[in-house]
Amino acid sequence: MNAIVILLFSIFLNIQPVLVERAFYVMGTIIEFKLYCEDRELCKKAISDAHSEVKRLDDMLSNYKADSKLTEVNSLAGTGKTRVPQEFFELTGRSLFFSNLTGGVFDVTIGKLLELWRKAQQENTLPGAKTLGKTVSECIGFRRIQLYPEKSEIEIKSPCLSIDFGGIGKGYAIDRAVKILKSKGIKSGIVNFGGEIYAIGAPPGKKGWLVGVKNPIKQEDVLTFIEVNDIAVSTSGDYERYFEIGGRRFSHIIDPRTGLPVDSVPSVTVIAENATDADALSTAISVMGKDKSIEVLKGLDRVGVMIVTEEKNKHTIYKNASFQGFEVAE
Ligand code: ADP
Ligand code: MG
Repeated sequence: MNAIVILLFSIFLNIQPVLVERAFYVMGTIIEFKLYCEDRELCKKAISDAHSEVKRLDDMLSNYKADSKLTEVNSLAGTGKTRVPQEFFELTGRSLFFSNLTGGVFDVTIGKLLELWRKAQQENTLPGAKTLGKTVSECIGFRRIQLYPEKSEIEIKSPCLSIDFGGIGKGYAIDRAVKILKSKGIKSGIVNFGGEIYAIGAPPGKKGWLVGVKNPIKQEDVLTFIEVNDIAVSTSGDYERYFEIGGRRFSHIIDPRTGLPVDSVPSVTVIAENATDADALSTAISVMGKDKSIEVLKGLDRVGVMIVTEEKNKHTIYKNASFQGFEVAE
């Protein structure tokens, strides 16, 4: 049957697309699928397959699971090459791309610093300057990761280094899930994974999916609305996930140069072609701040960015031209 016949058939039978919504808890947060399908069962099956893929990636890339591939790779740090699954290799490669692009501000070897801050939180005491300095100089450094594409091998060249995919993994998982959804014939839907979003096509009769970007200072307010179609949106905000020590709130994004949590960028929203890049960039921009980010973004095509910065309790909002191109009135 050609497309016109199908169309006439649909009009004749008055087939309306149905919205199927499902949410699951995975990777420490909620992944939410909203898909339009003419056949509800098709949507349900596609969601189930996409969810399985995200769980599979979580089992591989999680830092919290004792039996994940990541835990194994980290435990072998300093002992030579290790063979990793293709997805693991690909994600490490993309992480290193962003490390190079940002001069190491995004660093997939941030693991030991996260451990240090996790311990500090448990003990409710700030880490000492000496410990921080030693961790930064000895246990952080993407340049000490070597990739061997021929055999899909990776080498962490120091026993102290530890990989963490927290700044990019959810985005990568969304991209893999979306690939599955599209291969199952999904043409309209949105996936929201704790702040990482991918919009497939548009809702029926619309040009794109309407996404509201929350005000990090007053989260019940929406700062702006964007309309997106076949594109990813990532928001890194210190209001979504943070930890407290001595009653003070700290961001879970760490500056690998100092070892300290970032504190002057309450929220960053990035619009990019895929969710992996959007995720890595929103984390990186949170560390780089506005000026350095504008410089780095010059080398990237069509990436939309909105940055909320804070200085002495004063907030400013920066939006690049590409971001403004997506904005719509409510
Ligand atoms: P989320 O979307 O989970 O709020 P982000 O995408 O902003 O978070 O990434 C935050 C996570 O990234 C942290 O929890 C940590 O695992 C990791 N991370 C923190 N600092 C860095 C950094 N400088 N470079 C790379 N990853 C980081
Ligand atoms: Mg991120």
